[in-house]
Amino acid sequence: MSILANRLSRIKPSATLAVTAKAKELKAAGKDIIGLGAGEPDFDTPDFIKNAAKAAMDAGQTKYTNVDGTPELKDAIIAKFKRDNGLEYSRDEINVGTGGKQVLYNAMMATLNAGDEVIIPAPYWVSYPDMVLLAEGEPVIVDCPQSANFKMTAEQLEAAITPKTKWVILNSPSNPTGAGYTHDDMKALTDVLLKHDHVWVMTDDMYEHLVYGDFKFCTPAQVEPKLKDRTITINGVSKSYSMTGWRIGYAGGPKELIKAMGKIQGQSTSNPSSISQAAAVEALNGDQSFMTSWIEAFKGRRDLVVGLLNDCEGIECPMPEGAFYVYPSCAGCIGKQTPNGKTIETDEDFVSYLLEDQGVACVHGAAFGLSPHFRISYATSEEALTNACKRIKAACEALQGEARAAA
Ligand code: GLU
Repeated sequence: MSILANRLSRIKPSATLAVTAKAKELKAAGKDIIGLGAGEPDFDTPDFIKNAAKAAMDAGQTKYTNVDGTPELKDAIIAKFKRDNGLEYSRDEINVGTGGKQVLYNAMMATLNAGDEVIIPAPYWVSYPDMVLLAEGEPVIVDCPQSANFKMTAEQLEAAITPKTKWVILNSPSNPTGAGYTHDDMKALTDVLLKHDHVWVMTDDMYEHLVYGDFKFCTPAQVEPKLKDRTITINGVSKSYSMTGWRIGYAGGPKELIKAMGKIQGQSTSNPSSISQAAAVEALNGDQSFMTSWIEAFKGRRDLVVGLLNDCEGIECPMPEGAFYVYPSCAGCIGKQTPNGKTIETDEDFVSYLLEDQGVACVHGAAFGLSPHFRISYATSEEALTNACKRIKAACEALQGEARAAA
């Protein structure tokens, strides 16, 4: 008999982490790999943030903290929510966890009973459905194709709601597509939610600051204040401050829920790293002006990558509003043969071909619930991106035969 619990059979390993690990392993073995799989900025954490961590260590802040966040960090988060989103919270309405991932997981574990439904627009970040499954809930996937700019409509949301719906997850700008909900898009969704008061809203605002051109970020509780008492607004410092390894995520939400999330955390990991929390205080309270140059750099890379990918035979890449991902379609490559005579049947075949033939690592669309696509993270140098796109172009040109009718 297996030692493993039944719940393991319900979930798969995280595809984003698996691709990142594979690219690292191949690089370490001396292979010429360009990794576009990992969703993390290539910038270093700004010095003023690192200095705050060093000062915290020197000041002896190396012990347990309050389980769900230090008062200093909670205050910095409260100030951030007020400053950026016009949302007011008190300390007992804030949860700080080990990355946005733990905060999401806390919320699922604290609220889902067996069979409770969670509406997840697809493409979705890989971990949402599996977290729901781990908590014994039922993911209800709503397909949002490229023709709908990868966004869920009010009609789709309305149709997906049942008496068993507990949550809807809204992630804008989106990982993996970069698509962002405008204020009007969001209002259409919050109008639907106002009519269904048993449905709660879980946001993932991790890419809030990474938006380009005229696009303006908004979050559901800000767009519809009447939803605030059934919304958990989740964010973190990983992407905006290039602090992925520090593992600090946070949420603002109703007291009862926040307390329950703290209870889960108190019986699992306890507090996130004390040093990381001190650094996050400085990140949120400090001078934010460094972000302007990062946003400019990301925008330049986005424009570069979209242009180069649209020049590849069989690939079509829409222009996203934010985050640092593009989510091109590879429908025009499906059905063709590789130089080794293998037919590209799926987007997973396509990304395996890119990795094996050209040493470019990206993540297949099936992992995010919408095929045939693939995700590229452009959070790397323009040189690496140009090189990678050249290789992708060469790979596409080397394919033989006809593509199947576009999916
Ligand atoms: N969120 C990032 C990504 O999508 C980091 C990896 C993960 O935790 O999924 O690549």
